Amino acid sequence: MRPIKAAVCHSFGAPLTIEEVSLRAPEAGEVEVTLDAVAICHSDITYAEGGWGGSLPAVYGHEAAGRVREIGPGVTGLAIGDPVVVTLIRACGHCAPCAGGRPTGCETAYDGDRGPLSMPDGGKLHQAMACGAFAEAVTVHHSQVVKLPEGIDMAAASLLACGVITGVGAVVNAAHLRAGQDVVVIGAGGVGLNAIQGARIAGARRIVAVDMSEEKLAIAREFGATDGVLATGDMPWRAAKAAMGRGADAVFVTVGAARAYDEAPRYLAGGGRMIMVGMPHTGAESRYEAGNFAAAGQAMIGSKMGETVIRRDIPWMVDLYGQGRLKLDELISGRWSLDQINEAIADTKSGAARRNVIVFG
Ligand SMILES: [Zn+2]
Ligand SMILES: [Zn+2]
Repeated sequence: MRPIKAAVCHSFGAPLTIEEVSLRAPEAGEVEVTLDAVAICHSDITYAEGGWGGSLPAVYGHEAAGRVREIGPGVTGLAIGDPVVVTLIRACGHCAPCAGGRPTGCETAYDGDRGPLSMPDGGKLHQAMACGAFAEAVTVHHSQVVKLPEGIDMAAASLLACGVITGVGAVVNAAHLRAGQDVVVIGAGGVGLNAIQGARIAGARRIVAVDMSEEKLAIAREFGATDGVLATGDMPWRAAKAAMGRGADAVFVTVGAARAYDEAPRYLAGGGRMIMVGMPHTGAESRYEAGNFAAAGQAMIGSKMGETVIRRDIPWMVDLYGQGRLKLDELISGRWSLDQINEAIADTKSGAARRNVIVFG
């Protein structure tokens, strides 16, 4: 047990407070990682606002990179000092989804209330998303970390933990996009830009970005969008179909707005599939005319964390980054200290940001 500095949420919607908390040493199967960087994801913000409920007090943060500080019994393949990316994909390795190669669907429950974090007086402190990375260090299950090459920029590497794998993985793992297919990406934020570059890497013919501002459409083009359509116009799917000359083979909904889900099927070609990536607040509903999906042979596919297998996919993405084929540095809109986390969150909420990253000095 040692004291570390963390950003704690005591009440939904209130600013996070920077305070000293206790982190216990790694037990069997766990590793402790001293963090160099943690990115702020919209999921952290939704949790901190109470959008998905959950236990309090809590430490959020789940897109991190750092160095292994201590290794618990039974962990192999990692050494103290190794640079690693830390994800929220905790996989037991022996349940049916894990054994079937889908660790994002691991069915072994994890109780963050009984995790490695506690208040200095020994009181409960929830380790959110099995991570709790808005802190100087984390203790996590070994399945959540992937070794990185020496010398990689740790702020860039932290993005591989969630936003990048969620977007690129949705294209490659969930949609199984083939070269030459046409794609629409609704939302050009942190995840949407990665769906766009995933579609570029996968060899899409047309990649149409749909967003609320010209500024974000311009950024989308830098990541590989061939066309941009303003979602603020009347029936934006008409402009998207005009750009493609047809409907989309795959439309990716990367925002958590129910309205985006209502409209997404309008962009599809016959046989097309809607990939559901963004997560609206609990209770939000969308409506479809079900018969249309049957008549056109279309599909809806949910994509959790890009259906990523982290030790297969993250080394691949690290290599593409090294070759200049996957953009990471360009995704970072600001670097902040832990003490500035509420300002960084406010900047992310303003919508202008790509990814804000907390860096530890
Ligand atoms: Zn995330
Ligand atoms: Zn499992």
